[in-house]
Amino acid sequence: MRISRALRRPLQLALDFALPPRCAGCGAITSAVGLFCPECWPQLDFMGGGCRRCGLPLEATAADTCGACLADSGALDRIRAAVAYGEQARSLVLRLKYGRKTALARTMAGYMQRPLAELHPDALLVPVPLHRSRLWSRGFNQAQLIAAALTRLSGRPNDPFVLQRTKSTPKLKGMSASERRRAVQGAFTLRPGQIVKGRHLVLVDDVYTTGSTADACARILKRKGAASVELLAWARVVAPARIV
Ligand SMILES: [Zn+2]
Ligand SMILES: [Zn+2]
Repeated sequence: MRISRALRRPLQLALDFALPPRCAGCGAITSAVGLFCPECWPQLDFMGGGCRRCGLPLEATAADTCGACLADSGALDRIRAAVAYGEQARSLVLRLKYGRKTALARTMAGYMQRPLAELHPDALLVPVPLHRSRLWSRGFNQAQLIAAALTRLSGRPNDPFVLQRTKSTPKLKGMSASERRRAVQGAFTLRPGQIVKGRHLVLVDDVYTTGSTADACARILKRKGAASVELLAWARVVAPARIV
């Protein structure tokens, strides 16, 4: 029987969730869904403590906020991530996005629950949207899958229709911070009918790099009256010099 093109994609997504639990790093069978095996686990660099606002490790001289945040805090009130962006963390991101291993969204969300607990308790989860053209070519928004998995695990509500990406932005890889900021300027708008005035929001994304994309989202949400905008990512680049 020929499965129509329109059906094949959701069917594959459903099958991914039905496979036996395997290590998200190497594929070895594990005891429960979304766990890493004892060999892969130490290869992840879990984040914790650090700067009150951005979560990055603090210099010995800093009290609770890093120098960069004191100098220019941007539009995001707080930034948290489960792990630092290293080989293993990157492998998950690439396999989710390009290898279509959608079950990995559940794995990421599992490890994002601890940093989520540090953010506003009544916040609505808002996945960073993709532009329509990229959504069509990929078939799904990885940030939306992660946010939906977080909702299933934590019971926190999510709404993928708060923001829309109206401008298709070029790949930010290799751009300087100011080039990135310019590239995403005006790329996001609030969807018609959405009201964020007085609300607490947590943006959800797979990777936080320089923060230009999340900052552009936060700016528009703040302009529309959001009480707070925080960001939660699976992984974040810790040393901007090592941006990939
Ligand atoms: Zn493993
Ligand atoms: Zn900081």
